[in-house]
Amino acid sequence: MSTSGTEKPTLPRYVEAALPVPLRRVFTYRVPEELRESLKLGARLMLPFGRRNVTGYAVGLHADLPADVEIDESKIKDIIEVTDEEPLITPEILKLTQWTADYYASFWGEMLKASLPAGINKDKVRPKRQKAVRLLSTIPDDIAKPLTEQQQWIVDLLVANGGEMLWTEILERADTGASPINTLAKRGLVEIYVQDIRRDPLAGAELPKRDDFTLTAEQQTALNAITNAGETDAFKAFLLHGVTGSGKTEVYIRAMRHALDTGRSAMMLVPEIALTPVFSRRLRAVFGSEVAILHSNLSTGERYDEWRRIRRGDARIAIGTRSAVFAPLENIGLVVVDEEHDPSYRQHESPFYNARDVAVMRAHLAGAIVVLGSATPAMESFYNAQTGKYTYLRLPERIGGRGLATAELIDMREVFKRFGKDVALSPELLDAIVETHARGEQVIILLNRRGFSQFVLCRTCGETLKCPNCDITLTFHRGAGNLLCHYCNHRERSPKVCPHCTSEYLYFVGEGTENIADQLTKKFPNMRIARVDRDTMAHKGEIEDVLLKFAGGHLDMLVGTQMIAKGHDFPNVTLVGVISVDIGLGLPDLRSAERTFQLITQVAGRSGRGKQAGKVLIQTYYPEHYALRHAKEQDYEGFYKEEIKFRERLAYPPFYVLASILIKHRDLAYASKQANILRRSLDTANQSKQARILGPAPASLSRLKNEFRLQIILKGTTRRNLRETLNIALADAEHQGCDLRTINVEIDPVNLM
Ligand code: ADP
Ligand code: ZN
Ligand code: ZN
Repeated sequence: MSTSGTEKPTLPRYVEAALPVPLRRVFTYRVPEELRESLKLGARLMLPFGRRNVTGYAVGLHADLPADVEIDESKIKDIIEVTDEEPLITPEILKLTQWTADYYASFWGEMLKASLPAGINKDKVRPKRQKAVRLLSTIPDDIAKPLTEQQQWIVDLLVANGGEMLWTEILERADTGASPINTLAKRGLVEIYVQDIRRDPLAGAELPKRDDFTLTAEQQTALNAITNAGETDAFKAFLLHGVTGSGKTEVYIRAMRHALDTGRSAMMLVPEIALTPVFSRRLRAVFGSEVAILHSNLSTGERYDEWRRIRRGDARIAIGTRSAVFAPLENIGLVVVDEEHDPSYRQHESPFYNARDVAVMRAHLAGAIVVLGSATPAMESFYNAQTGKYTYLRLPERIGGRGLATAELIDMREVFKRFGKDVALSPELLDAIVETHARGEQVIILLNRRGFSQFVLCRTCGETLKCPNCDITLTFHRGAGNLLCHYCNHRERSPKVCPHCTSEYLYFVGEGTENIADQLTKKFPNMRIARVDRDTMAHKGEIEDVLLKFAGGHLDMLVGTQMIAKGHDFPNVTLVGVISVDIGLGLPDLRSAERTFQLITQVAGRSGRGKQAGKVLIQTYYPEHYALRHAKEQDYEGFYKEEIKFRERLAYPPFYVLASILIKHRDLAYASKQANILRRSLDTANQSKQARILGPAPASLSRLKNEFRLQIILKGTTRRNLRETLNIALADAEHQGCDLRTINVEIDPVNLM
């Protein structure tokens, strides 16, 4: 008999365990008599697995061996231990991780492990405990024996400190040593106990003052729609489309407040780097200790403590990055995903998932409201709003009537002609930096470092060389001097002149954007310049320091990548320069136009958030490209209309569902063999021809960590169809001798590179 988490189970004699291994199945174990009482669904278990002992998760309890288990009773092993008496994993998270693993063709056990705070299985984190002393009485029962001077001193100290102090605090102040405290305890005047110490990521932080302003009419309309929907226990999804600075965060905050007031909990997801100190403090100022913060820049201990506060129900609001979507909140009423278009919601290694989509499912399973917010919604989300799957809410204007920054395109082809050589920084941008600095205002320079893949650009006409079949930029392979399409495997020799205009100025783009920060430092020695990217910001707290310094006016210019584009509110920034951001447009990726548009719009939103008007200068080789034209006008709908046509024409999302299958092995011949078996199985599984299959072809990163990488792309008309074709094909391929360990499936890949 199977039991759910709520009804009282008859004592389980067998348990199904999900293990954190890349296998798509659960394992049955026997539960020794003495462990049956303490075993609950969702608990961690210590299990024998092969020759090792591993931590697994109890996902099914059974009084008798399930009928469909085809194993010999005598082969079933006993579990070794039940790790948690009180299960860490709630029934809701069990369900959600199962759905997620299934949806992403991923592994349940790995998903469960990813849902828990890091370090928990290896006992690398534990609660931090400290000895403390509590005053029970000031007068001894035994009046005949008065307190010694030292004992009296300690009693007085405790009284002065509200009756409770840490053991170490007392010892620091008193020069008595421990013995009088112990004596007081023996005499029943104080109690010595062990206290959980909360490692608080914001301990001692200064919190901003809370303005209790009235919402604008648009904000109020959006909030009402959200809170009214929350009155019922039905799932409902909103897309909150509001330009940067339009007051979205304020709407989230009040909606979360409402959820708390109605006795439910709430969650807010933010992109990887956006959870700045400024932002966390703003939420702490509103919600105090009701809010728990979960993100990768916390220490393991802080994360663990914040997670436990949620699990215990002490914190009813969880704010965090990607994996916070699995936070064990109970009775969740509202899920907010800020900057929902952001690619950092995508987990790029196993177990794959997109936290935005898992968030929608979480709300769905819980009968909660989900609000996806963005200034530049993902194509899929806006499409869902257009087709009525999401309810569309709009905040069209910045708070306080501040205009959006004006944007100008600087045509770098023209700059190239003027100088007769490459310059990374146009005179227009350099002049603007000088003027801005002279006014005492701040500058942000945005770079793009995604250009690791080389492609060919004509300096004269600005065209890139594209695949005749795929309308995607060809990738240059220097060794062979070939241009290669990573989608369909089309190859051609690299030409000597531009096929569009016959100019000889072909340029192989894709390297060296970092030195721009150095160039700026040399050009402006009197300016205080800091660089922010993944390389320079290796340590916890470093980004925070730089951002706080910049916000405080102790830096004049910030040079950085995507990281600085989003979320921050720097009122004194009036110039944003965008450099080589259009490198993205040349990458062989279905989302490059979307990413470029989003990035420019987001960073433009950093300019002119204060009283002064802001300016955005965009250096580009593609001034006519629709992504740039619409980004300049900050015209989302205009961009969407053109981009959606492209998606439809090429059978991309949201019209088709994609799976990217990577076949990886150190031996190329071996990888090819597996890829070919799988391709044949896919063709067999796809008799109805509903799905489209491309490849195998070398992946964009064709060799990584000593492994060759081949790619098959699968496009399905519906999710169900895609998953079915894939499942049948994988089973068949295995049957045909395909080595499934070489196969890595990614459903809904964010990019195809
Ligand atoms: P977004 O999340 O859309 O970028 P925010 O919610 O951060 O926008 O709002 C931008 C700024 O305007 C913040 O400093 C915020 O405190 C302020 N703000 C938001 N709503 C109002 C309002 N109704 N009245 C006055 N100021 C507001
Ligand atoms: Zn040309
Ligand atoms: Zn092609």
